[in-house]
Amino acid sequence: MESELGRGFGRLRFADQVEARFEADTQRQRSRQMVVSGLISVVIYCLFLINDYSFRPDTFTTALMLRVGVMLPFGLPILWWVSRGVSAAQRETLMASTVIVATVISCLIVAESTVPYSYLDVFSFGLILLVGNIVYSLRFSYACVSSAISILIILVFVLPYEPMPPEVKRLAMFTIIAQALFTLVANYRFEQSERTSYLHVLKEKLRAGYYLQDNQKLTRMSVTDSLTNLANRRQFDAVLPIRWQEAADKGLCLGLMVIDIDHFKAYNDYYGHPQGDVCLRQVAKAMQANSRDSDLVVRFGGEEFLVLMTNATPEAAKPAAERIRCSVEALGIPNHGVSAHSIVTISVGVAVLRPTVGLTPADLLLKADEALYEAKRQGRNRIREASLVDSPSSDDAVGGLGVSAR
Ligand code: GH3
Ligand code: MG
Ligand code: MG
Repeated sequence: MESELGRGFGRLRFADQVEARFEADTQRQRSRQMVVSGLISVVIYCLFLINDYSFRPDTFTTALMLRVGVMLPFGLPILWWVSRGVSAAQRETLMASTVIVATVISCLIVAESTVPYSYLDVFSFGLILLVGNIVYSLRFSYACVSSAISILIILVFVLPYEPMPPEVKRLAMFTIIAQALFTLVANYRFEQSERTSYLHVLKEKLRAGYYLQDNQKLTRMSVTDSLTNLANRRQFDAVLPIRWQEAADKGLCLGLMVIDIDHFKAYNDYYGHPQGDVCLRQVAKAMQANSRDSDLVVRFGGEEFLVLMTNATPEAAKPAAERIRCSVEALGIPNHGVSAHSIVTISVGVAVLRPTVGLTPADLLLKADEALYEAKRQGRNRIREASLVDSPSSDDAVGGLGVSAR
């Protein structure tokens, strides 16, 4: 893209890839504009019948036949075709062909008449070139070719046309060629500026796209744990109040597992920190794979993880925690730091709360953490739950929050 802009704007074609994109981006609007200009031009071309009638009534029938009987049936299907969408080359060729056919028809109408000064009409032929080069704004190369062919056709008609004095022929051809050149210069400038603006806009779009991608990437990175690819604590801190509020609004329960790898210090000491990282990744992967898509699995820090469960129930939360515990156990990762037959296991504390007045998200975390402590205390590799009870409990473990550690 930079190289396209850097190359200067003298060239009226981009590199193939950019050219294809330019065409794809501008095709619809360009076709629409061409069809509208084509319709206006066809109407005006037919309105020239008024001049035919007043100027050379002897050939009015021929003029009527050629303008309405030939130009319309030729031009209108082309406009219909272009409006349906054709390739760039077809579109430009078809539109350029209407310029050439209009030139031929106009020449035939003039040549047919024997009325004096009928040839003065030749001076208006420049209008046909103007339509192709400015009104249609054919792509420059097509504008050049259609102008050259039209001038040749006019020459072929005008040069042998007896009633036209040679000095008038010279003046007419000079005028038409000058009109062709002026309109081609304008055509070139128009296409050049169209392409320049397109490139600038495209460049800005790409730049904005890259910024957006960078921003999205940074945002993703800032809420993801780089070792395990799980959500990090920052994400959890942001999501917890939202899920809490959603649960409160819907009258649903929110569940939380606090998970801690057992004897992980011993694992690290025995196998080394890098192998400890590998183990953390394996455990994280197993936990993620055994959670619901709607659950948020978090690396809370070190070898501690959380699973935040939306729409949880105490009945469903316990099996969910058990599934995760089993999945880690099933990995069968040896932990010889503990004993020759030990494997890596996790302890899980589960809490399920219905957000009500007087409770906060911190209570959920606190209850699950207390349950985890209980699981550790009772020997590890197990789950303990602090589950919701309907009436405020007097249980010591819950402190009147409506939950109890079991
Ligand atoms: P417990 O069963 O009571 O949880 O015992 P533990 O050894 O797992 O608990 P402790 O909190 O004493 O040890 C946690 C260890 O986790 C200490 C540290 O070496 C290790 N750890 C924390 N973060 C990382 C990490 O990012 N990579 C690795 N390899 N180890 C980590
Ligand atoms: Mg720990
Ligand atoms: Mg631990």
